[in-house]
Amino acid sequence: MTTIDLINDLRIRVNPLYSATPGTESYERRLCAEELEKQVELIEQQAVELKHLKALLRAVFEELDEGDGNAPGDSHEKPGIWDDDNTPDIAGKPCHWCELWAMVKEVTK
Ligand SMILES: [Zn+2]
Repeated sequence: MTTIDLINDLRIRVNPLYSATPGTESYERRLCAEELEKQVELIEQQAVELKHLKALLRAVFEELDEGDGNAPGDSHEKPGIWDDDNTPDIAGKPCHWCELWAMVKEVTK
């Protein structure tokens, strides 16, 4: 069960509260239920926005990725690792640009 499914289940459970009279405890619960519904709508809206953003990021990845395990513009002998002939402070260490690119690939699968 996804988070959205769980929230929708909760929404169904609180619906009887909509017949509550103002000033009663049930009415207070109704106000809480209405706030919950607003939060659910916001989460659903953010989920749609996230889906669109991931699709956009995936399109950029597919357009620019060179398929060699390195970020665009990089050509490390070992993908994502600075070559031994680089300066000693970075030689053999992970390239942060390539790490970022790998994260883009991972989150847009
Ligand atoms: Zn790199």
